[in-house]
Amino acid sequence: MENSPQVLMKSMQDEDLIRDFHHVWHPCTQMKDHETVPPLLINRAEGIYLYDREGRRYMDVISSWWVNLFGHNHPGLNQAIKDQLDQMAHVMFAGVTHQPAIDLAEKLVQHTSPGLEKVFYSDNGSTSVEVALKMSLQYWLQTGKPDKTKFVYLKGGYHGETLGALSVCGMSLFRDKFERVLPQNLEVQGPDCLRCPFGLKRESCQAECFEPMAQALEKDHASVAGVILEPLVQGAAGMNMYPPIYLRKLEDACKAQGVHVIYDEVAVGFGRTGSLFVSEHHGLNPDFLCLSKGITSGYLPLAATLTTEKIYQAFYGDYDSFKLFIHSHSYSANPLACAAANETMRLLTEPGFIDGLKPKIKAMNAQGEVLRDLPWCGEFRQTGMIAAVELVQNQETLVPFPVEKRVGYQIFLEGLKREVYLRPLGNVVYFIPPLIIEPDQIEAMMTAAYDSINSVLGK
Ligand SMILES: *Cc1c(COP(=O)(O)O)cnc(C)c1O
Repeated sequence: MENSPQVLMKSMQDEDLIRDFHHVWHPCTQMKDHETVPPLLINRAEGIYLYDREGRRYMDVISSWWVNLFGHNHPGLNQAIKDQLDQMAHVMFAGVTHQPAIDLAEKLVQHTSPGLEKVFYSDNGSTSVEVALKMSLQYWLQTGKPDKTKFVYLKGGYHGETLGALSVCGMSLFRDKFERVLPQNLEVQGPDCLRCPFGLKRESCQAECFEPMAQALEKDHASVAGVILEPLVQGAAGMNMYPPIYLRKLEDACKAQGVHVIYDEVAVGFGRTGSLFVSEHHGLNPDFLCLSKGITSGYLPLAATLTTEKIYQAFYGDYDSFKLFIHSHSYSANPLACAAANETMRLLTEPGFIDGLKPKIKAMNAQGEVLRDLPWCGEFRQTGMIAAVELVQNQETLVPFPVEKRVGYQIFLEGLKREVYLRPLGNVVYFIPPLIIEPDQIEAMMTAAYDSINSVLGK
């Protein structure tokens, strides 16, 4: 069955879609677009596919906004949640604890960088960042450095869209309308490997682009609480990828200047890059690690902020010292979510699972050749199970397509006709499929993307 725009428009006659249009306000969406192209009404999902009510299927190549690891309707995850449901769905997490949260904290500590000992739960990526920022600020306040009140973040960095998290995002698209109320933090030019100002390659450079960060820390360390960044892949910026040497330089500089390192692995954690966690894999030692998205394999909202014993100790004391961390969310450590996370960790750490990603990573690279052949391919880049093609008007000058052309949106529509749910970030068509995707499905995914791009730009 072909998913032509006519079919899509006709489905707007659908009673439920009309009700949706009347009352539901969707995230990051110009709702007027839905006058002509309604949202997909998905009522079933299985493995890497989403199904609408007419039985049309769409390959979920972006893992339902980067959260799904083991496919939809996974028997093991379903069972883990059902078992927990029969015990207890939810209980508050102050003055109360429970087995799923204890098990999960232990597992996260075991598999992340050695210095991370304490786990603070919340319920989404933005809150995991808010927690890290607030803990860092309160730490400095309680250790005699109250002037450390600012955070350094990278241009192109993305850490969520609540006001605190937004204040450390380096993307004007998200910031512009709120700039006037955001806490004033410090933006620093970070890696831009495709358009490297030093003319170097990410495979062989020494992160010469670290200089602006080095200078910022040198100059402002007395007022800087921490640096926050997404290790190896700046997701929302368009899957911008940079080498680990940048992170090693960062850790050295931050240690020297007495500034916290906050890694936001909300997107890249849990196997996405071909290792369980980027920071652990590369021997890095952050002061804070933010986790969410893949943590429950896309089943339920959950997040964790990990930190060190040293930071924890600055909050530990008699009650009347009032050093406690005052921060809470109603659904902190929800037991059903923790049960899903424990099963996710069990699946990820099964012998051979992470190693088993290698042939898939190879297949993504091999299939990427097809995309490299496109005359609009500025770059095909890949880090583990994350891949992206950045489309440009001119391969020599790397001039991007203007925003008004909505190239990405048109490719998205073409993708639907070819049974793939692509959601390009501007001019970047990217793939962050469930880890269970098979090589033949990888081929189908890349081929559909190639055809979709070609049909939009080849006109
Ligand atoms: C998605 C994302 C967030 C925000 O997570 P939400 O659950 O959407 O609030 C934060 N940081 C990174 C790196 C992300 O990709």
